[in-house]
Amino acid sequence: MIKEYVKNKKEELKNRVAALDRKPSLAIFQIGENEASNRYIKNKIKDCNEVGIEAHHYWYPEDISEEEFYEEIAATQDFYDGVIVQLPVPPHISTKNIVDVKKDVDGFNIMSKFDPATPKGIMDYLKWRNFDLIGKNVVIIGRSEIVGKPLARMMTDADATVTLCHSKSNLARHLYDADLIVCAVGKAKFLNCYAIHVPVIDVGINFDENGKMVGDCYNTEGRDVTPVPGGVGLLTRCALLENVILAKEWEEKENALD
Ligand code: NAP
Repeated sequence: MIKEYVKNKKEELKNRVAALDRKPSLAIFQIGENEASNRYIKNKIKDCNEVGIEAHHYWYPEDISEEEFYEEIAATQDFYDGVIVQLPVPPHISTKNIVDVKKDVDGFNIMSKFDPATPKGIMDYLKWRNFDLIGKNVVIIGRSEIVGKPLARMMTDADATVTLCHSKSNLARHLYDADLIVCAVGKAKFLNCYAIHVPVIDVGINFDENGKMVGDCYNTEGRDVTPVPGGVGLLTRCALLENVILAKEWEEKENALD
């Protein structure tokens, strides 16, 4: 089902790009060598090419200072519609004010006008599959700033009743009454889906003892659980593309008003 969503979404995005004055553009800033980050960036560039976004990759060595790194972004970002910093960055680089808020298409900055990509991707996918959130009990496990908390806000705004769980929650009690579960914990074999008969969105990315990518959920056969890989990662990638396109669409609208 997710593959079909992604195919449709990319088609829609391609058409939206074709209707713009010029191609939207994205700058990706990376520090150091991280195998997973290299792979994610390669995928993002491939996605951009597919829908007609121009992507540019800026790379810096591990020993770049925080000041220098943010100066580089400040000096470059005006040439792009969107900017992202590929995480993780080294510990000496603060992620607090990742980029000037108007360009932060990852929506990491709380002041950003863009919704963070993972929650946005999940919301768009639920809408596409006609999952009506109004009055539903949603249990989100994991209260991170980039997934759990913004998703709780977005689902509350969509008239769901949201329970945001964490490591101190009595999970069994809350899961019992859920109409939809989102699991964003980051632990393999965390959620046993054998007795779960409601849709589950598995956000987790973990690697098993053989280096294979797995989610947080197990015993998912015959259950309505998003796969890992090929699940929320793809939704997130689509949402990022849409944020870049939105940035350009909004700019054109503003120009038309001038
Ligand atoms: P995170 O910052 O790693 O935090 C994990 C959350 O899980 C915390 O809120 C923690 O509770 C909670 N938790 C840990 N153990 C628990 C337990 N036993 N019972 C209930 N809750 C528990 O979260 P994140 O950054 O959102 O990442 C979560 C996972 O999603 C990771 O695997 C990450 O790689 C993945 N992810 C995937 C995508 C994607 O595009 N597919 C995007 C983002 C993240 P406390 O707050 O109490 O510590």
